[in-house]
Amino acid sequence: MRQKIVAGNWKMNKTVAEGADMVREISDAIENEGLENTTVIIAPPSIALESVVTELWDDEAIAVAAQNCHYASSGAFTGEISAPMLADLDVDAVIIGHSERRQYFGETNEMLAKKIDSVLANELVGIYCCGEVLEERKAGHQEAVVKKQIEEALFHLSEDDWENIVIAYEPVWAIGTGETASPAQAQEMHAFIRKVVSEKYGNDVAEGVSILYGGSCNPKNADEIFSQPDVDGGLIGGASLIPDDFIELIRIMEKKF
Ligand code: PEP
Repeated sequence: MRQKIVAGNWKMNKTVAEGADMVREISDAIENEGLENTTVIIAPPSIALESVVTELWDDEAIAVAAQNCHYASSGAFTGEISAPMLADLDVDAVIIGHSERRQYFGETNEMLAKKIDSVLANELVGIYCCGEVLEERKAGHQEAVVKKQIEEALFHLSEDDWENIVIAYEPVWAIGTGETASPAQAQEMHAFIRKVVSEKYGNDVAEGVSILYGGSCNPKNADEIFSQPDVDGGLIGGASLIPDDFIELIRIMEKKF
C-alpha cells in the first residue's frame, strides 16, 4: 500500500554507538511530537544493524533497512551478507541498486533482479533505486534509462510481489552534490515511473507503489518536493546524518497527511 516515507541512508557513516544514540533521538522525537503517520526507515551500515534493531525493539514507528545484500542465501562470497541473515536479524527492508553500488561495485540490473528476488523471498521490503547520470539527462535520455532500470530488475515480479517494493528515484547528478531536482523534474519522473509500472501491471499496482525522491533533499527543499502528487517521500543521504534535519524532514512529511 502506498505510504508516505522518510528514509535515511547513512551510507558508510556513524559508529555503532553513534547509530544507537541517533535512532533513540529520532524515536523520542516521533513519540513526543506524535509524528506517527509517516513511515520512517533508517538504513545504517551493516555492522550497526543489530544494535539499531535492538535499540528499536519496542518501537513500531521506525523500520530498519540494510543498504545492500547479496543475491545468494549463503556461500563463498567473502565480505557479503545475505537476505536470510537480514531477516534473521529482524531487519525490515533492503536498499537495492543504489547508484553508488552500481557505480563503485559494478552492480547491473541483472544482478539487482536476483537481489530483489532474494529480498522478497525472505519477506523483506525492497527499496529499489533508479536514476540517470548527468550526461543522460543532458541528452534527454533520462526516461529511457530509468525505464530500462525498472524493466530489467523488476518486471519479472508478480503483481503480489509489488506490495513489498518501494521505488526510489535518485538522479545521480543530485546525490550528495547539493544540487536537487526541481519539484517539477521530480514530479515528471515520478509520474513517468508510475505510468511505466501501470502499463505493465495496471493501475492498482502503480497507484499502490510508494515512489521516493532522493538527491540532496533537506529541510529547505523538502516541503515543495514532498508536495508533488507522485512523490511519496524521500530517501535521504547527507541530511539523514544530522538528527535535527532528519526529524525536521519527518515533521515536514507529517504535515502532508
Ligand atoms: C542517497 O545517497 O540516497 C542520497 C539521496 O544522498 P544525498 O541526500 O546526500 O544526496
